[in-house]
Amino acid sequence: IEEQLRRAEKLSTLGEMAAVLAHEIRNPLGSIRGTAEILKDDYKPGDPKHEFIEIQIKETERLNRVVEDFLHMARPQPADMKPCPIQEELETIVTLVANDARERNIKLVVQPPPSPIIIKADGEKLRQGFLNIIINALQATKPGGSVIIATKTYANGLCEIQFRDTGSGMDEETRKRIFEPFFTTKPDGTGLGLAITKKIIESNGGTLLVESEADHGTTVIVRLPQPTGEKS
Ligand code: ADP
Ligand code: MG
Repeated sequence: IEEQLRRAEKLSTLGEMAAVLAHEIRNPLGSIRGTAEILKDDYKPGDPKHEFIEIQIKETERLNRVVEDFLHMARPQPADMKPCPIQEELETIVTLVANDARERNIKLVVQPPPSPIIIKADGEKLRQGFLNIIINALQATKPGGSVIIATKTYANGLCEIQFRDTGSGMDEETRKRIFEPFFTTKPDGTGLGLAITKKIIESNGGTLLVESEADHGTTVIVRLPQPTGEKS
């Protein structure tokens, strides 16, 4: 519990700071990017200076992404709870990354549940959370590997979505820290994806669980309540 409180506090303080900082960072970032684009045209592709400027542009994009992620934590808009067909939500997200997976020769499959599952949730937020989980899975998985998404329901009114990858997995040390804001093992990671995803799932009344074994892969388990009387 203490750990949970500490985390919640960390997130809310960060959130307030983020709203202020985001504004102060975005505008100058826009100028840096804009002027870099103009300078880039002065050099031919292949000229090292052309490449340096491309690095500058790429890095401004990265900063922008961090700020974007920050903002999502800073302004958790009121949840818009509507009936969500889980299977369709998952398929919508998967189409966004299907090309990427195909190019890297990773099998990416959404297994249909025996019968349609509809839950009451904020669909847009939920899709953002699912996307974070799937991107992580794809990033961890080598060509020839797979990311399988399966959904099932339980008699106790919960539905469960499993995201199983055959990727790098994590050691225990890493697994313990993955929900910490800014914790990342990637050179260009923000370390905010899972912190945000956990918040999203929990604000929809669900839980998020991660099982992983180094070198063997990872399974992310999302459990969400189904409205009583509307079970399918
Ligand atoms: P980021 O992706 O920017 O690093 P996340 O919060 O999404 O931030 O993830 C935090 C860390 O958790 C990652 O850097 C990685 O070490 C670990 N991780 C998350 N998902 C997976 C996965 N499917 N397989 C292996 N490691 C993972
Ligand atoms: Mg991530």
